[in-house]
Amino acid sequence: DDTIRLTDLAHQMGIKAQDLIKKLFSLGVMATINQSLDFDTALLLAAEFKYEVERAGFSEDDFLLPKEADKAEDLKPRPPVVTIMGHVDHGKTSLLDAIRSTSVASGEAGGITQHIGAYHVATSRGEIVFLDTPGHEAFTTMRARGAKVTDIVVLVVAADDGVMEQTKEAVSHSKAAGVPIVVAVNKMDKEGADPDRVKRELSDLGLMPEDWGGDTIFAHVSAKKREGLDELLELILLQAEVLDLKANPDKPGRGHIVEAKLDKGRGPVGTVLIQEGQITQGDAFVCGMISGKVRAMFDDQGRQIKTAGPAIPTEIQGFEGIPEAGDEFVIVKDEKVARKIAEDRRVKHRDKELAKESKVTLESFLATK
Ligand code: GDP
Ligand code: MG
Repeated sequence: DDTIRLTDLAHQMGIKAQDLIKKLFSLGVMATINQSLDFDTALLLAAEFKYEVERAGFSEDDFLLPKEADKAEDLKPRPPVVTIMGHVDHGKTSLLDAIRSTSVASGEAGGITQHIGAYHVATSRGEIVFLDTPGHEAFTTMRARGAKVTDIVVLVVAADDGVMEQTKEAVSHSKAAGVPIVVAVNKMDKEGADPDRVKRELSDLGLMPEDWGGDTIFAHVSAKKREGLDELLELILLQAEVLDLKANPDKPGRGHIVEAKLDKGRGPVGTVLIQEGQITQGDAFVCGMISGKVRAMFDDQGRQIKTAGPAIPTEIQGFEGIPEAGDEFVIVKDEKVARKIAEDRRVKHRDKELAKESKVTLESFLATK
């Protein structure tokens, strides 16, 4: 099991074994120089001396499939992934709904769309994937977890209201993430709509419209009247062309969770946005601290599929627990490997939390003295 000899720990920390024993004593633990410490004790002790301890002997890199660099000829164009942001009530949800229903109405049979956290829209000029959770929270949570999922931000600004607090926030989040912005000036049907004012105010934030000599794309839309939507989609694709988005579809899949939940009948389900490679039914995977095996997969229309490639939102069944938005989803060799990696991540996570706790205890202890 995980134990370490007291002398070895002292040696690794570059302090005398006697000092460790004294520290243990002050913590109420009697120890001798020949003793072995269990991992949790070593962890607490190390934290006291402001060290971090990591369990040795396991590196997930030994188990994950090798990450080989893609050859240029293996990279294929992929659809852009778009997040909608903007001030409350400026029409984010309405715009998402309008785009979805327009595309469903003109599209395939069985237009009952399920809410899976993302959907894709087919236009004559190409596909676009929309993340279905408007708002800054999802965006920043994902980014904080190291998941770069979004290629383009559509910034919704109500033409009758102009730039507001959350508009500014959205601009700064997007800029910080290095994600280009396409502006959708919404509510153009309303009396008092003043798109030039929106342009002026956004110019002040560094988003200069193209027709004023800048490079920010503006579209005029009405989510309510469903006007200007085709043009908006075209402009998004135009922006995507500039980005030259590509991925290798021909290797084990990797992606991120955009939404997850516990379904009464089906157990944990998660929507994965695949970023490279393929996910196929039967694949074993690890996702954050959870492992699993792809038992069933569905597209954004709720149709069962056997396999999916880059930028396709896919709902997956077969998680051993509920993953979190932003978790990375990686195909591994088999279920045994998946469990091993997930278990190791859980242990390491717990260790970190413990170390944090013991630091906090020590700090508050000193503070109250
Ligand atoms: P969100 O908070 O940004 O998601 O905004 P919503 O989509 O919930 O819209 C807020 C309100 O604005 C709702 O009452 C919508 O019906 C209304 N709304 C949204 N888009 C338009 C539009 O293009 N024109 C008009 N007149 N109203 C709109
Ligand atoms: Mg909304």
